[in-house]
Amino acid sequence: MTEFLAATDLRHACELRAAHPEATLLAGGTDVMVGLNFGHRSATALLDLSRVPELREWSRDGDTITLGAGVPYTRIVAELGGALPGLARAARTIGSAQIRNRATVGGNLGTASPAGDALPPLLSARASIELASVRGTRSVPAREFFLGPGRSVLAADEIVTAVRVPVTVGEFAKLGPRNAMVIAVASVSVTLDPARRQAGCAVGSAAPTPVAAVEAEEFAAAELDRDGRRELPAPAAARFGELVARATAPIDDVRGSAGYRRHAVAVLARRTLEWAWREHRRNRGGAGR
Ligand SMILES: Cc1cc2nc3c(=O)[nH]c(=O)nc-3n(C[C@H](O)[C@H](O)[C@H](O)COP(=O)(O)OP(=O)(O)OC[C@H]3O[C@@H](n4cnc5c(N)ncnc54)[C@H](O)[C@@H]3O)c2cc1C
Repeated sequence: MTEFLAATDLRHACELRAAHPEATLLAGGTDVMVGLNFGHRSATALLDLSRVPELREWSRDGDTITLGAGVPYTRIVAELGGALPGLARAARTIGSAQIRNRATVGGNLGTASPAGDALPPLLSARASIELASVRGTRSVPAREFFLGPGRSVLAADEIVTAVRVPVTVGEFAKLGPRNAMVIAVASVSVTLDPARRQAGCAVGSAAPTPVAAVEAEEFAAAELDRDGRRELPAPAAARFGELVARATAPIDDVRGSAGYRRHAVAVLARRTLEWAWREHRRNRGGAGR
């Protein structure tokens, strides 16, 4: 028999989590329930977070969005397309409308799959992951959150409460055998933040965890610095793609060979940088209009 624990607010959720560390956290249930139904996981207790009001809100403070872990993707698409375009684009590609109505970023982080589509935008934007327990709160850079497939720094008594994401220009693209309802063969997110003189890039499905492409980021930031108003030279976009592919460590599996994935990442990275660059120029009143 599975015990069902329903948290009414964040404090209650942390108390229940501390008292029942064996319980499986349940947000939208789109990973948990599939696992239970197919017998891939078992649960002696479920701790339902879906009615915790603090997890279902987002707010803006200057150039940072604090997005509750339990805000479903449908709302991210509808409400945050302007402030967090990379994450909103990724959210739009996740599952079907029914899945997006339930599924959450907190659940994507909890599952910690290298193929989680919300994850590259968080890494590329240098977001932080906010965690809470009865011991207190802490903040972990998204780039340091993942330890391996299905593994993260989340402690047994902790809950992801929110992600804090800088407002930037952002793009996301993923490759799969079809547009929806498949696990990505590869995905890339690019972020441009001229105010902080930063570029961000992260890749999904091409290493044991989502990874940031640091060398490529430095290359793109230098291009931005040189003259962010000009059109992006084609050789620079191609070079960026190569550097992003170099940051990956893909494997051969049923969805694609390592070589195919590396090639796909280079193409996706080149395109996402070109799109983000165009958007950045449009925001500055440059070409593209
Ligand atoms: C048909 C289908 C299509 C899908 N398509 C995609 C897709 O295209 N891209 C993609 O990335 N994923 C996809 N998924 C997987 C899933 O929808 C996502 O991983 C989603 O983000 C999970 O969110 P959830 O709220 O449903 O998580 P849940 O299933 O409730 O939980 C998932 C995991 O996270 C933990 N967890 C939940 N909330 C928290 C929290 N606040 N703090 C800490 N841990 C927590 C849970 O204990 C569990 O381990 C698909 C799933 C289905 C069934």
